[in-house]
Amino acid sequence: EAEVALVGRSNVGKSTLMRELTGHSKFDTGGKPGVTRQPNHYDWTAEDFVITDLPGFGFMSGVDEEYREQIKTNIVHYLEEYADNVLVGILVVDGKSVIDIIDRHSGPDEIPYDVEMFHFLRDLDVPTVVAVNKMDKVDDKDERLNELCDRLGLYPPWKQWQEVIAPITAKRGQIDPLNEAVRTHLHEQGRDD
Ligand code: GDP
Repeated sequence: EAEVALVGRSNVGKSTLMRELTGHSKFDTGGKPGVTRQPNHYDWTAEDFVITDLPGFGFMSGVDEEYREQIKTNIVHYLEEYADNVLVGILVVDGKSVIDIIDRHSGPDEIPYDVEMFHFLRDLDVPTVVAVNKMDKVDDKDERLNELCDRLGLYPPWKQWQEVIAPITAKRGQIDPLNEAVRTHLHEQGRDD
Protein backbone atom coordinates (compact mmCIF):
# COMPACT_ATOMS: atom_id res chain seq x y z
CA GLU A 1 0.00 0.00 0.00
CA ALA A 2 1.22 3.48 -0.88
CA GLU A 3 2.46 5.54 2.01
CA VAL A 4 3.39 8.98 3.25
CA ALA A 5 6.41 8.88 5.56
CA LEU A 6 6.97 11.27 8.44
CA VAL A 7 10.49 11.94 9.71
CA GLY A 8 11.90 14.48 12.13
CA ARG A 9 13.97 15.08 15.21
CA SER A 10 12.52 14.29 18.61
CA ASN A 11 10.16 16.82 20.13
CA VAL A 12 9.37 18.71 16.90
CA GLY A 13 5.69 17.78 17.24
CA LYS A 14 5.51 14.68 15.06
CA SER A 15 3.01 12.91 17.32
CA THR A 16 0.86 16.03 17.52
CA LEU A 17 0.89 16.30 13.74
CA MET A 18 0.07 12.60 13.33
CA ARG A 19 -2.96 13.10 15.49
CA GLU A 20 -4.11 16.00 13.31
CA LEU A 21 -3.49 14.13 10.08
CA THR A 22 -5.16 10.91 11.09
CA GLY A 23 -7.82 12.07 13.50
CA HIS A 24 -6.59 9.47 15.97
CA SER A 25 -5.91 10.49 19.52
CA LYS A 26 -3.85 7.59 20.74
CA PHE A 27 -0.41 9.08 20.13
CA ASP A 28 1.89 9.86 22.98
CA THR A 29 2.51 13.57 23.11
CA GLY A 30 4.47 15.62 25.53
CA GLY A 31 5.95 12.48 26.95
CA LYS A 32 9.50 11.26 26.73
CA PRO A 33 11.15 12.33 23.51
CA GLY A 34 12.07 9.42 21.31
CA VAL A 35 9.45 6.99 22.52
CA THR A 36 8.44 6.19 18.95
CA ARG A 37 11.17 3.87 17.77
CA GLN A 38 9.60 1.47 15.33
CA PRO A 39 7.99 2.59 12.10
CA ASN A 40 4.29 2.83 12.86
CA HIS A 41 1.61 2.78 10.21
CA TYR A 42 -1.69 4.61 10.46
CA ASP A 43 -4.41 5.23 7.95
CA TRP A 44 -4.73 8.80 6.77
CA THR A 45 -8.28 9.99 7.15
CA ALA A 46 -10.25 9.56 3.93
CA GLU A 47 -7.21 8.85 1.78
CA ASP A 48 -6.12 5.56 0.33
CA PHE A 49 -2.62 5.46 1.67
CA VAL A 50 -1.00 4.85 5.01
CA ILE A 51 1.07 7.31 6.91
CA THR A 52 4.25 5.97 8.49
CA ASP A 53 5.67 7.59 11.59
CA LEU A 54 9.40 6.91 11.66
CA PRO A 55 11.27 7.19 14.95
CA GLY A 56 12.34 10.62 16.13
CA PHE A 57 16.05 11.17 15.77
CA GLY A 58 18.64 13.43 17.34
CA PHE A 59 19.12 14.17 21.00
CA MET A 60 17.07 12.24 23.50
CA SER A 61 17.74 12.33 27.18
CA GLY A 62 18.85 8.99 28.55
CA VAL A 63 19.68 7.58 25.13
CA ASP A 64 23.33 7.02 24.25
CA GLU A 65 25.10 8.05 21.08
CA GLU A 66 25.35 4.50 19.74
CA TYR A 67 21.63 3.91 20.08
CA ARG A 68 20.89 7.27 18.45
CA GLU A 69 23.04 6.30 15.48
CA GLN A 70 21.22 2.95 15.31
CA ILE A 71 17.85 4.71 15.14
CA LYS A 72 19.12 6.91 12.32
CA THR A 73 20.51 3.91 10.45
CA ASN A 74 17.16 2.15 10.78
CA ILE A 75 15.36 5.16 9.33
CA VAL A 76 17.75 5.36 6.40
CA HIS A 77 17.40 1.64 5.67
CA TYR A 78 13.64 1.80 5.91
CA LEU A 79 13.48 4.69 3.45
CA GLU A 80 15.91 3.05 1.04
CA GLU A 81 13.91 -0.15 1.09
CA TYR A 82 10.50 1.44 0.63
CA ALA A 83 11.39 4.55 -1.41
CA ASP A 84 9.42 3.29 -4.43
CA ASN A 85 6.36 2.98 -2.27
CA VAL A 86 6.65 6.35 -0.53
CA LEU A 87 4.53 8.95 -2.33
CA VAL A 88 5.61 11.86 -0.20
CA GLY A 89 8.14 12.32 2.58
CA ILE A 90 7.29 14.83 5.30
CA LEU A 91 10.26 16.20 7.21
CA VAL A 92 8.96 17.86 10.36
CA VAL A 93 11.08 20.59 11.94
CA ASP A 94 10.55 22.97 14.85
CA GLY A 95 10.27 26.45 13.35
CA LYS A 96 11.36 28.04 16.59
CA SER A 97 14.72 26.27 16.82
CA VAL A 98 15.51 24.79 13.43
CA ILE A 99 17.92 27.47 12.22
CA ASP A 100 19.90 27.49 15.48
CA ILE A 101 20.14 23.70 15.44
CA ILE A 102 21.19 23.56 11.80
CA ASP A 103 23.82 26.25 12.27
CA ARG A 104 25.14 24.66 15.45
CA HIS A 105 25.68 21.37 13.63
CA SER A 106 27.13 22.77 10.42
CA GLY A 107 30.84 22.38 9.92
CA PRO A 108 33.53 21.00 7.67
CA ASP A 109 32.85 17.39 8.78
CA GLU A 110 29.28 17.72 9.90
CA ILE A 111 25.97 17.90 8.10
CA PRO A 112 22.94 18.64 10.31
CA TYR A 113 20.35 15.83 10.49
CA ASP A 114 17.56 17.90 8.99
CA VAL A 115 19.62 19.01 6.02
CA GLU A 116 20.97 15.50 5.51
CA MET A 117 17.53 13.94 5.66
CA PHE A 118 16.09 16.49 3.24
CA HIS A 119 18.76 15.74 0.63
CA PHE A 120 18.60 12.02 1.31
CA LEU A 121 14.87 11.91 0.55
CA ARG A 122 15.34 13.94 -2.60
CA ASP A 123 18.20 11.71 -3.71
CA LEU A 124 15.81 8.78 -3.34
CA ASP A 125 13.39 10.67 -5.62
CA VAL A 126 10.86 10.91 -2.83
CA PRO A 127 8.94 14.21 -3.18
CA THR A 128 9.57 15.94 0.12
CA VAL A 129 7.65 18.53 2.10
CA VAL A 130 9.23 20.27 5.09
CA ALA A 131 6.52 20.81 7.68
CA VAL A 132 7.79 23.79 9.67
CA ASN A 133 5.90 23.31 12.92
CA LYS A 134 5.36 25.54 15.97
CA MET A 135 5.00 28.65 13.81
CA ASP A 136 2.89 30.09 16.64
CA LYS A 137 6.20 30.63 18.44
CA VAL A 138 7.90 32.42 15.54
CA ASP A 139 7.73 36.21 15.32
CA ASP A 140 9.20 37.02 11.91
CA LYS A 141 7.75 34.15 9.94
CA ASP A 142 8.92 35.19 6.47
CA GLU A 143 12.46 35.76 7.64
CA ARG A 144 12.60 32.38 9.40
CA LEU A 145 11.24 30.53 6.39
CA ASN A 146 13.64 32.33 4.04
CA GLU A 147 16.53 31.34 6.29
CA LEU A 148 15.36 27.75 6.20
CA CYS A 149 15.26 27.81 2.40
CA ASP A 150 18.79 29.12 2.39
CA ARG A 151 20.01 26.30 4.69
CA LEU A 152 18.29 23.68 2.54
CA GLY A 153 19.78 25.02 -0.67
CA LEU A 154 16.48 26.40 -1.96
CA TYR A 155 16.70 29.88 -3.41
CA PRO A 156 14.59 32.29 -1.30
CA PRO A 157 11.95 33.69 -1.05
CA TRP A 158 10.17 30.74 0.53
CA LYS A 159 6.88 31.70 -1.16
CA GLN A 160 8.35 30.25 -4.33
CA TRP A 161 8.58 26.88 -2.60
CA GLN A 162 5.10 26.37 -1.20
CA GLU A 163 5.03 22.78 -2.41
CA VAL A 164 8.17 22.18 -0.33
CA ILE A 165 7.98 24.53 2.66
CA ALA A 166 4.77 24.24 4.70
CA PRO A 167 4.51 26.43 7.82
CA ILE A 168 2.11 24.85 10.33
CA THR A 169 0.97 24.96 13.94
CA ALA A 170 0.02 21.34 14.55
CA LYS A 171 -1.03 21.98 18.12
CA ARG A 172 -3.86 24.23 16.94
CA GLY A 173 -4.72 22.11 13.94
CA GLN A 174 -3.39 24.71 11.51
CA ILE A 175 -1.99 22.40 8.87
CA ASP A 176 -3.61 23.56 5.63
CA PRO A 177 -0.29 24.49 3.94
CA LEU A 178 0.92 20.93 4.56
CA ASN A 179 -2.23 19.36 3.19
CA GLU A 180 -1.95 21.60 0.13
CA ALA A 181 1.69 20.73 -0.47
CA VAL A 182 1.09 17.00 -0.07
CA ARG A 183 -1.89 17.20 -2.41
CA THR A 184 0.28 18.92 -5.02
CA HIS A 185 2.74 16.04 -4.99
CA LEU A 186 0.01 13.41 -5.10
CA HIS A 187 -1.53 15.29 -8.01
CA GLU A 188 1.78 15.24 -9.88
CA GLN A 189 1.77 11.49 -9.45
CA GLY A 190 -1.83 11.20 -10.59
CA ARG A 191 -3.04 10.00 -7.22
CA ASP A 192 -5.43 12.75 -6.23
CA ASP A 193 -8.63 10.91 -7.16
P1 GDP B 1 7.42 14.49 18.92
O1 GDP B 1 8.48 14.07 19.89
O2 GDP B 1 8.02 15.01 17.67
O3 GDP B 1 6.39 13.44 18.66
O4 GDP B 1 6.69 15.77 19.56
P2 GDP B 1 5.28 15.90 20.32
O5 GDP B 1 4.14 15.80 19.38
O6 GDP B 1 5.29 15.00 21.49
O7 GDP B 1 5.38 17.43 20.78
C1 GDP B 1 6.47 17.90 21.57
C2 GDP B 1 6.04 19.16 22.30
O8 GDP B 1 5.81 20.21 21.35
C3 GDP B 1 4.73 18.99 23.07
O9 GDP B 1 4.85 19.70 24.27
C4 GDP B 1 3.70 19.61 22.15
O10 GDP B 1 2.59 20.12 22.84
C5 GDP B 1 4.50 20.73 21.53
N1 GDP B 1 3.95 21.14 20.23
C6 GDP B 1 3.57 20.35 19.20
N2 GDP B 1 3.09 21.08 18.19
C7 GDP B 1 3.19 22.37 18.55
C8 GDP B 1 2.84 23.63 17.93
O11 GDP B 1 2.34 23.71 16.81
N3 GDP B 1 3.11 24.75 18.65
C9 GDP B 1 3.65 24.72 19.89
N4 GDP B 1 3.86 25.88 20.50
N5 GDP B 1 3.97 23.57 20.52
C10 GDP B 1 3.74 22.42 19.86
